[in-house]
Amino acid sequence: MNLAKIIDGKAIAANLRQNIIKDVLELKSSKNIIPGLAVILVGDNPASKLYVRNKITACKKVGIKLFEFYPEANVSEVELIKLINSLNENKEIHGILVQLPLPDHINSMNIINAIDPRKDVDGFTATNLGKLVTEQDCFVPCTPQGCLILIKSIIDKLDGLNALVVGRSNIVGKPMLHVLIQNNCTVTLAHSHTKNLPLLCKQADILVVAVGSSNLIKGDWIKPGSTVIDVGINYTADNKITGDVDFKEAAHYAGAISPVPGGAGPMTVTCLLKNTLKSALYSAL
Ligand code: NDP
Repeated sequence: MNLAKIIDGKAIAANLRQNIIKDVLELKSSKNIIPGLAVILVGDNPASKLYVRNKITACKKVGIKLFEFYPEANVSEVELIKLINSLNENKEIHGILVQLPLPDHINSMNIINAIDPRKDVDGFTATNLGKLVTEQDCFVPCTPQGCLILIKSIIDKLDGLNALVVGRSNIVGKPMLHVLIQNNCTVTLAHSHTKNLPLLCKQADILVVAVGSSNLIKGDWIKPGSTVIDVGINYTADNKITGDVDFKEAAHYAGAISPVPGGAGPMTVTCLLKNTLKSALYSAL
């Protein structure tokens, strides 16, 4: 039996980042604009710290200027909104990222919606998500945007294909559903109440899994020859990272599969860079 093609998110992301470097330089020389990203990390959640560090390193490598803010875990909602309001006004800042999750005493949607939608490079504000659903120009959330690029690296034309998205979060599952609808797929969205997930997987030409449950999707659930994108990030007892799909088994069934790590992760960071550049370009119009 042939093994699936591995979708190398790291290599695809590296290619895209070369173009971003060129575009950042061009914007500086033609308009004297340096794309600027404000990053807010509240408290000291170790996983969030790691994700923020990766994003900061990636920004620095492509020439995006960073503005870093590290409020204490007990910061109030009002104080956070004040900080965001000041960043909304700052002309050097084109993108504002609030790393999630926020501490329990803070209403995340209040914080996200305080971001000026023109600087919402994560695409999480109600305005941006509404624009995505109604197919208007917007910042497409980074993970679904990156997953689409991975899928298109394998399939030229998505028209009429059956796609299954597992997970219905506002930041991955739901926007992924709309991204695939816009590409003329017939999309099913599964979640924890879904009945007969194996059967739905078996019908999917494209399977995107964003649950956060190690090896939830078994190899023999997968439609032979299909394209599988694993968004999940799970940590084993010995601190290794695994996805939501049983990669070893799935590679015997899928036509192409993205690994964890090295699949959706690097693409998410790259799409954050893309969105920040897009915001800086728009500020010049
Ligand atoms: P959430 O926890 O917000 O959502 C998880 C979703 O999975 C929910 O919709 C839940 O259903 C569903 N779910 C839970 N158990 C099952 C099950 N047994 N069968 C079917 N569906 C189930 O997670 P996120 O969307 O924020 O993240 C998902 C995963 O992706 C995580 O591992 C996260 O770390 C990773 N991630 C990776 C990124 C990357 O760049 N690679 C970026 C963002 C996230 P219900 O709604 O019914 O509870």
